[in-house]
Amino acid sequence: MPIGGRKVPPKAVEKESVAVSSTISGREVELSGMWNRMFEPRVLTETGPDGFARLAELDGAASLEWCYGCGKCVPVCPVDSVGEYGPRKLHRKVQTGTNLLTDPDLWLCTTCMNCLRVCPKEVDMIQIMPAAREAAVGEGNVPSELQDVFEKTFRYGNALGENPRRRAQWTRGAGVPVRILPSEPGPVDVLFYVEDYWSYHPRGQQAAQAFARIATALGIDWGILGHEEKTLGDSQRLAGEKGLFDALVEDVTATLAKYEFTRIVTPDPHGFNALVKEYPKRGHHFDVLHYTQLLSPLVDRIEWKRPLDAKVTFHDPCYLGRHNGEYDAPRTLLRAIPGLELVEMGRCRENGYCCGGGGGGMWLDGFTRDYTSERLSERRVREAADSGADILAVCCPYEVSRFEDAAKSTGNAHLQVRDIVELMDEAMRDGGDS
Ligand code: SF4
Ligand code: SF4
Repeated sequence: MPIGGRKVPPKAVEKESVAVSSTISGREVELSGMWNRMFEPRVLTETGPDGFARLAELDGAASLEWCYGCGKCVPVCPVDSVGEYGPRKLHRKVQTGTNLLTDPDLWLCTTCMNCLRVCPKEVDMIQIMPAAREAAVGEGNVPSELQDVFEKTFRYGNALGENPRRRAQWTRGAGVPVRILPSEPGPVDVLFYVEDYWSYHPRGQQAAQAFARIATALGIDWGILGHEEKTLGDSQRLAGEKGLFDALVEDVTATLAKYEFTRIVTPDPHGFNALVKEYPKRGHHFDVLHYTQLLSPLVDRIEWKRPLDAKVTFHDPCYLGRHNGEYDAPRTLLRAIPGLELVEMGRCRENGYCCGGGGGGMWLDGFTRDYTSERLSERRVREAADSGADILAVCCPYEVSRFEDAAKSTGNAHLQVRDIVELMDEAMRDGGDS
């Protein structure tokens, strides 16, 4: 302990041997000098420039220094399963001189939150990473693929760089009328915030169309913002573009203020997280549900037309499960579908394994390839295949494309990847109409 401003080095005490009582048998056990020395505190001799001081200046990044090296975080970190990572390892690197702001490790964390769940010191990577990344972005140190997404989001209001005029194009294939509020204004119960991947990605559009059919069949009063919708921007925030996120909050809330609705429902756990946790910090409060939370209380009203005889396993999205505590609504929907048998993977619910898409990881697969043995989505697909399931069910728009690619690249193409709404929609349709 520091005394009078100086550290007093601990005395090394080593006896040739020492006897201790066994807590099990009560017998005396002799420890040699080599072992009884371990009872003395270890002295850290090797340190680098004070990287923690730089982090402590950043809002939210100070807690990396709190680590006391217990190691609980490393085995639960999904990135460590495919590489060398985890808060403890990062702490040690910074302690021995690594500048986190210029190190590739800065971009590997997916902000999945599994480390924070187990950390006794509350080392909070969900705060540390966005803060350190924001500083790195400010210094122009950002992987090019991520910079590209930031620019597309800034320019077009979506991460894919698609034309905002095409936001509602998916509705044409839905087979049911979809109310687009800018052209059909008036009060509505559910404002459905479609987000980027369900609006533009071909597999996301199929899920959006399935949702439209289910919502219509259930008589839900709902509408969308069409070309006025912009991304809610949570992943851009976590990837370090806080300024862009703040600008999006302004735009999105100005648009929402034009319409009268009771609640916002979104299929995107990242958008959901932003609306539940970040928008209120900036003074904007909404009643928000993930689509599984909207539909799960209504399952008894669904008229199922055919069973889906298959084994299904479910991947918990980090931002619906660990970040926001919703594990049951998706499972309620899956269990309600006739014929489906739900089998769980070893890592599920609170300990669910990240798909690699969170915190900007969705756009960093090229960058992370040099630092990991395989993508997190590939590791997860192997687990899903090992569960014996025919179908990997998801309820996050990032996951369908990630897992479909991973199923092919790992030789598990037999594993179907389906959004829960696609499965529900299929079971609600007549046999010849799939
Ligand atoms: S769980 Fe927390 S205190 Fe323990 S090693 Fe990891 S970061 Fe450090
Ligand atoms: S948030 Fe997830 S990916 Fe990041 S260090 Fe923690 S466990 Fe690993």
